[in-house]
Amino acid sequence: MKRTAIYPGSFDPLTNGHLDVIQRAAKLFDRVVVAVAVNESKHPLFTLAERVALVNKAVAHLPNVETDSFNGLLVEYAEARKAGTIVRGLRAVSDFEFEFQLALMNRKLDENIETIFMMPKDTYTFLSSRIVKEIARLGGNVSSFVPPNVQVALKKKLKV
Ligand code: ADP
Repeated sequence: MKRTAIYPGSFDPLTNGHLDVIQRAAKLFDRVVVAVAVNESKHPLFTLAERVALVNKAVAHLPNVETDSFNGLLVEYAEARKAGTIVRGLRAVSDFEFEFQLALMNRKLDENIETIFMMPKDTYTFLSSRIVKEIARLGGNVSSFVPPNVQVALKKKLKV
């Protein structure tokens, strides 16, 4: 049986921290599906199609990683994709409380799906999509924080 993991998130946009988690998960599972959440309520900078395309290009070198999008309940999406595991990233203690709540809620909704947490390389623990967007907006260099295609897309989107 093939083991599939879902790595869900807004990915607005994908950062090197996300990519680090994806690469680690790809070593543990037969298939990793990076699932971009619609999340309209978060007013994303990039459209869903743009976020999916950015992830897709950045993971092209990883043969067992694919990109998809989803709307609605994550556990239902995971069931539909026949994935038994949800992967989430933990950067610092500050992530823990929310992630803990989310994982236990997902377990309440579906006992069969486990959540696992992965820690990124230490140099990525301070990275978030929000901070990357802020730096890019102010004209800062984000080349060490995001993959090259995301850097280009940020420049274009923010006209900096
Ligand atoms: P969400 O809106 O669901 O939090 P994000 O795209 O911000 O979506 O993050 C998706 C997942 O990746 C979350 O589990 C988040 O904690 C994790 N993550 C975000 N940035 C990093 C990073 N720099 N290193 C490791 N994990 C990260």
